[in-house]
Amino acid sequence: MAKVELKGISKVYDGNTRAVDNANIVVEDKEFVVFVGPSGCGKSTTLRMVAGLEDITEGELYIDGELMNDVPPKDRNIAMVFQNYALYPHMTVYENMAFGLRIKKVPKDEINRRVHEAARILDIEKFLDRKPKALSGGQRQRVAVGRAIVRNPKVFLFDEPLSNLDAKLRVQMRAELSDLHLRLNATMIYVTHDQVEAMTMANKIVVMKDGKVQQTGSPLYLYNHPINKFVAGFIGSPPMNFLTVKVTEKDGSVVLDEGSFQVKPVQEHQSYLKKYAGKDIYFGIRPEDLNFTESSADENRMGVKITVVEPLGADIHLWLTTPTQPLVARTEPHHAFKVGDTAGFVPRMDKARYFDRETELSILAELDAAAEK
Ligand code: ADP
Repeated sequence: MAKVELKGISKVYDGNTRAVDNANIVVEDKEFVVFVGPSGCGKSTTLRMVAGLEDITEGELYIDGELMNDVPPKDRNIAMVFQNYALYPHMTVYENMAFGLRIKKVPKDEINRRVHEAARILDIEKFLDRKPKALSGGQRQRVAVGRAIVRNPKVFLFDEPLSNLDAKLRVQMRAELSDLHLRLNATMIYVTHDQVEAMTMANKIVVMKDGKVQQTGSPLYLYNHPINKFVAGFIGSPPMNFLTVKVTEKDGSVVLDEGSFQVKPVQEHQSYLKKYAGKDIYFGIRPEDLNFTESSADENRMGVKITVVEPLGADIHLWLTTPTQPLVARTEPHHAFKVGDTAGFVPRMDKARYFDRETELSILAELDAAAEK
């Protein structure tokens, strides 16, 4: 069992920088939780407080119900894997992995057993006698993970462990770490600025910005029910489009007016939007929810100009513009799109999100709260 709970945790550096502000996070036993957000949002600081590498300014940290605030790092039964691997260059892979256990005076046979077991899991047995400099980036990262595994910790902490690897290796290691999580059946907390890593690896994502937790939930919950414009724009690539539209009423229904086109929200969203009649809001629509149409008679048709065509093989990213606002569509390459052409797109209105211009909060928050997390 290894449940980690952060209750009202804050970190103030040097008496003024509030790096983390009132974080409330529950990491369940055996869960893979990813902290994600832009650089400087407080992810590493939060992780380092869990590890005991930073003091907690306010709030309480519990591991398995036990208060950890004043427990030294070595007694927390946690292992951390760093971005720069932090391997000892003069030691072999075996010695690097065995080092922490030797310090703890674990018997030699036991060390030998654990190192070989971890090396087998990570497929690095053939490198045990090599020094780190004779290994590739990916192999070094595996050794760093191996050093964590041999300690048999309650919780694994990863701080941007893949950012030094090239794109292809990153994708491979991503899958390996997910697989490792399943095989070890362990609690893991993983920090990254890369929303793709968060989406692909996490059971639960914690999105942070400016030291504050914005939203917590499964990857698909956050994708489909972002709590605010920040989360909506951060999760997903290319990001969600945000068009400023005016809420108007026509024949008793809400219609959104962009200036160059009008779209009608689905029935389920109508009552929430009615409250904004006469006001501007953000109409959020994901690139894949814009469907190309050749018919000029479609209801909700948005006529836009193509500014950039990016063919990616399986699909195409189209950079578009209304007379006043840019947007991106992602579509199958079934049509010869040309820069400068005008094209028609119909948004999937059931997938549309709406955000308050001032608070940037989701106007559909009530519906979102009812959806499965
Ligand atoms: P992230 O991991 O999301 O990039 P960090 O947790 O490293 O963010 O940093 C959060 C904020 O705290 C940043 O503004 C950063 O400059 C500040 N910070 C981090 N470490 C220190 C420190 N040792 N002293 C003062 N400020 C720090």
